[in-house]
Amino acid sequence: MVSVAVAAAAADRRPLRLFFIPYFASGHVIPLVDIARFLAARGVDSTILATPCNAALVRSTVDDAAAAGLRIQLLEYPFPSAESGLPPGVENISALPPSECHKIDHAIPFTRPTLEHLLGLHRPDAVVSDAHFPWTVDIARELGIPRITFAAVGFLAYCISQYAWEKQPFKDVTRDDELVPIPDLPHPLLLARSEIPDFLIRNTVFGRLIDEIYEADKASLGLIINSFTEFEGIYLDYFRRVFSIKTWFVGPIALKDSESHSVGVRGGGVDPAAVGNRARCLSWFSEQKPSSVVYACFGSWSQFSGEQLREMALGLEAAGHPFLWVVREADGTEWMPHGFEQRVKGRGLVLRGWAPQVELLSHAAVGAFVTHCGWNSILEGVSAGLPMVTWPIGTEQFMNEKLVVERLRIGVKASDSIRSAMDPNRTIVKATELARAIGSIMDAGEAAEGTRRRSRELAEKARAAVEKDGSSDKDLNDLIEDIYVWHDNKKTAAGKAVDI
Ligand code: UDP
Repeated sequence: MVSVAVAAAAADRRPLRLFFIPYFASGHVIPLVDIARFLAARGVDSTILATPCNAALVRSTVDDAAAAGLRIQLLEYPFPSAESGLPPGVENISALPPSECHKIDHAIPFTRPTLEHLLGLHRPDAVVSDAHFPWTVDIARELGIPRITFAAVGFLAYCISQYAWEKQPFKDVTRDDELVPIPDLPHPLLLARSEIPDFLIRNTVFGRLIDEIYEADKASLGLIINSFTEFEGIYLDYFRRVFSIKTWFVGPIALKDSESHSVGVRGGGVDPAAVGNRARCLSWFSEQKPSSVVYACFGSWSQFSGEQLREMALGLEAAGHPFLWVVREADGTEWMPHGFEQRVKGRGLVLRGWAPQVELLSHAAVGAFVTHCGWNSILEGVSAGLPMVTWPIGTEQFMNEKLVVERLRIGVKASDSIRSAMDPNRTIVKATELARAIGSIMDAGEAAEGTRRRSRELAEKARAAVEKDGSSDKDLNDLIEDIYVWHDNKKTAAGKAVDI
């Protein structure tokens, strides 16, 4: 029973004003804007601070939400191009080749004066900051508001990364392919040194920020994770051995949205081909049998060598199933195997540019997802109940692969070779390997049926998590409540100080 006093207190409360600071990557901007929207749907006044090119990615999503009556807006600030030595218009890691995307991190310190000014001017009730901006914790402290971290990675990957950074278990490992155990997790897990992101073992710009990042996270009110308790809650004990902050599992974020109007344009705001791509995919899907299509997409900033793209094409062809393959414009076409498009005509669709991934994954025609294991893609695949072929190419994606393949057994690896998170093209995945992996989840047989069944069961849990009173629904409410309580405690403490 809700007490009258609590209800009255709640009625007295003015809406919270929250500011959100996303990092300069689509895989960070898109989910954080989604979180801002879902909080706005619960009465929060949400403002997203973004540089012009990043704002353009999500403008239609934000405008749609505002038009529907939600209190949500974008507040643009200039990207420090001149200061960071980046050409004008390069504001997102996808605008650089993967080998140079770390250059975006040079811009981070130069954003501080502007963000400090804007937060000071608008004085929100809390700032939800991407982990890449550790000093937002100092700004928040000065303003007397809580800072909340948004970690765009999964919870297991967050825990392993923190362990790998603090304990450096790969320090004395001489061979790149040597498997090292990650201790104290609820299940065994081995990682090769080459599967660890370079910034956890190398001296990169971002690497130098990492100590500061973990210190800032520890000093924050808590951590927002785009995941759900039934999926990754098992790692909470492990996390709490190091961190005493709160966690809110609010995902799968994309699932909460899968029926909304904006899902078809999600994140594709700057690609002029995105709208045409959507129409083409949906029309082609309508001709395919249920669960027959293999959807292959590698996120917002992958880049494969011509040799690897050729093998991928031949593998998709050899697997024998209809496929929709999303290829980045920057990949060109020279690698295309001779006669490939003719041979797969009607059975395979090669799409260039941006695909409306969340909408496509939930289409009845799709039967499997070949993914680079970016965290958003993993959650989107889980939400759609799809078995996955895992093909990690960098950052923390090899850790995500372990979760999918070893722990949950809802996917199979594209290749059994130990590959490299620093150079995705170092070990080429052969066409025969890819075809075999696709077959092992798409073809008949007990093992394939088991993988598909587990994927469907997990999707049901994901849906239940975001439904009313589900675990993620409750965590989203708790997040709001925790910010109110933080302010109530502050007022009480100030009152006591006055009494004294
Ligand atoms: N995405 C999309 N269409 C594309 C490529 C990517 O909608 O053609 C979306 C995808 O649904 C996901 C995000 O972009 O939400 C990519 O994030 P993820 O963490 O999967 O990978 P990243 O791009 O950060 O490596």
